[in-house]
Amino acid sequence: MAARTMKLRTRYMLVTSGLILVTILTSLSTYIYLSNTQSERLKTKLQQQSTHTYTSEIVKRGTQLSDYLSEALFDALYSYNLEATWYLLQPILTDGEISRAIVFDKHGNIFHDGTPEIASFGQPFPDQDVVRRVIENGEQLQDISRRRLYITTPIEVSGMIIGGVRLELSTARMAIDIAETTNIVERLHDKSTQALLTSAVVSTVVILAIAGGLVFAFSVSLVRPIQHLTRHAEKLGQGSFEHIGEIKQLNRDDEIGGLANAIAKMAESIQQRTQEISYMAYHDALTGLPNRHQVMRLIRTRISKYPDKPFAIMFIDIDDFKLINDNFGHGTGDVLLCTLAKRLTSLIKLLELDGAMVSRISGDEFLLLLPLEKEICSIETAAEHVLSLLATPMTIESEELITSGSVGIASYPASGNNSEDLIKNADIAMYCAKAQGKNTYCVFTHEMAESVIYRNQIEKEMRRALLTPEQFELWYQPQFDLITGELIGAEALVRWRHPERGIIPPMDFIDIAEKTGLIVPIGEWLIHSACEQLAKWRECLNDNFHVAVNLSCKQLYNSQLSNFICSQLAAHDIDTKHFHVEITESILMQNEAGAEKTLETLSKNGINVWLDDFGTGYSSLSYLRRFTVSGIKIDRSFISNMEEDKRDQNLVQALLQMTKELDLEVVAEGIENAVQAELLQQFECQTGQGYHFGRPMPAEEFTKQFICQSCCTECSA
Ligand code: C2E
Ligand code: CA
Ligand code: CA
Repeated sequence: MAARTMKLRTRYMLVTSGLILVTILTSLSTYIYLSNTQSERLKTKLQQQSTHTYTSEIVKRGTQLSDYLSEALFDALYSYNLEATWYLLQPILTDGEISRAIVFDKHGNIFHDGTPEIASFGQPFPDQDVVRRVIENGEQLQDISRRRLYITTPIEVSGMIIGGVRLELSTARMAIDIAETTNIVERLHDKSTQALLTSAVVSTVVILAIAGGLVFAFSVSLVRPIQHLTRHAEKLGQGSFEHIGEIKQLNRDDEIGGLANAIAKMAESIQQRTQEISYMAYHDALTGLPNRHQVMRLIRTRISKYPDKPFAIMFIDIDDFKLINDNFGHGTGDVLLCTLAKRLTSLIKLLELDGAMVSRISGDEFLLLLPLEKEICSIETAAEHVLSLLATPMTIESEELITSGSVGIASYPASGNNSEDLIKNADIAMYCAKAQGKNTYCVFTHEMAESVIYRNQIEKEMRRALLTPEQFELWYQPQFDLITGELIGAEALVRWRHPERGIIPPMDFIDIAEKTGLIVPIGEWLIHSACEQLAKWRECLNDNFHVAVNLSCKQLYNSQLSNFICSQLAAHDIDTKHFHVEITESILMQNEAGAEKTLETLSKNGINVWLDDFGTGYSSLSYLRRFTVSGIKIDRSFISNMEEDKRDQNLVQALLQMTKELDLEVVAEGIENAVQAELLQQFECQTGQGYHFGRPMPAEEFTKQFICQSCCTECSA
């Protein structure tokens, strides 16, 4: 663990110094061991040598004295002269070299014991065997034992032996001399060992210092470039690529140079990739325009750098872009987006606004940032430019496309003081432009934001209301045969009876319900309640009477729709001919294949389908052929001006003519007065609906006003 946390240089120095130390200590201890053994051997040898030398010296000395006494004592012993004997022995004994001298006669009795008293005179010599060997054989005997040298010599002249003399020499002196010599040797050895150790310690320190210095220098030369690379790698990790050149400057031919080159290469490729990624992260792949992140970043920077400079955000959404994708394919849709991107870019150049920018923030949404400090044109004029630029037809793959866009404008600082709020508010304004019928622009106001808050609130409350779907109810508006004046049916129109807000009209919640998917459960509840109502009216109605229910997009494309309607009708025992559905053309266009299938199933089951608001959308005749619809409802915008506008009259007449030829039924919507009703009668319009005949009303009221007339006895509803 410690090794892992230790720096490379420290580790390298520790290991190398350790190795050097171990090597020095091993060789030193070997050397000391060898020199110790050597001096021990020398000491022993010296001891042996000096013992030998001293012994031979003492023997030689003893032998010389013995030889001298052998002759010199002859006369004294021969004449039994004790005094002469003492006279000869005394100087030898006083010398201290000879510790004792005993003279014995040829019978082995002591003649003189080397003392003045001669206490042992006449006593037999203690070792008679020695006496025998000296007297009889004339041998000179030497015996070294118990730190003493004994030399026994016959006393003789010319081969005549008359006795012997024994000299006793002490070897203590010799032992002391040997010990002294050994001591000297030992002292010498100790001194040299000490000197050896001192020089070993000194040389170890010196070697370690030199080696340490070298190791340090080497480790620095190794570690410094690694540290250099590490610092640069850290900087690279933080996304700073300015120092790639410095990595290359290491200029080494060794492995570190190779590593530096590899890092530099890697850094270059990371830099390139980072640039690509950052371009991708901040640009739209299709048009190459800056994307949402980039525009947000730019707005943020602009606000923090120039908080006093006003600018506007223009949120542009292409109207019905989905239809273009569905009808002409995504390839065409992409070309259209690129063309619009180019047009918007050139517009900015044309307006010569410094710091203006166009970006694509999602599918068909573009964002223009327009500085307002230099008033080349007002923001409204700029919006007009944008709208006309969007509405300019373009030819893609020999197909002429006419588009339009809705524009929302939010300006800084009035409509928000940060990028998120500005974009959100421009988006809200764009939704208002859509709600105003598209192909127009709206400038953000705080009321718009309130309406968004209102919508959110409504959405929340709608979810709650669905727990008790009785809050949703159907109102009915009568439809009459314009020729006979007979009631032929009713359009069912939803109302939300809100416990606090009162009656909420469908325009205020249907599209929220549609967008949130809540329309499916609400729609099912409405179909159920329409069937229930029909069942209540069953007894009073004629065979042709129908209730027409409006369907929204999500409902139409629900595969279970037809089954659900049929099951509800069956549950209430009602014939399918009494139930109509109304759908708008724009719903059909969203998924033509899906719509075709659903309409076919509905028609197979005997349910009539009416095309609502006819004349406001594409009003494509091919749709009328392709889809199995039984009739159309002429939109009330044609009816409302009919009495004044001759052109509307002509249009209505043309529509009526067309339906006749296609064998379709027709209902005129929004008849508000008798003039309109009469005109339509003249044009032989079959059916009419509008405030002139009756407003949408709750079922009870409808029953009272219209059903009871045909069924006088029972007003049970
Ligand atoms: P719509 O299907 O075109 O319905 C006709 C609308 O015109 C109704 O508005 C009706 O009150 C109004 N109207 C009828 N006669 C006249 C007239 O003479 N003059 C004028 N100015 N208006 C007239 P309402 O009930 O507010 O419904 C608005 C829209 O809400 C409907 O338009 C329909 O698109 C949708 N809607 C209504 N009920 C439902 C429903 O149950 N489900 C779905 N999905 N949508 C519904
Ligand atoms: Ca309708
Ligand atoms: Ca309508």
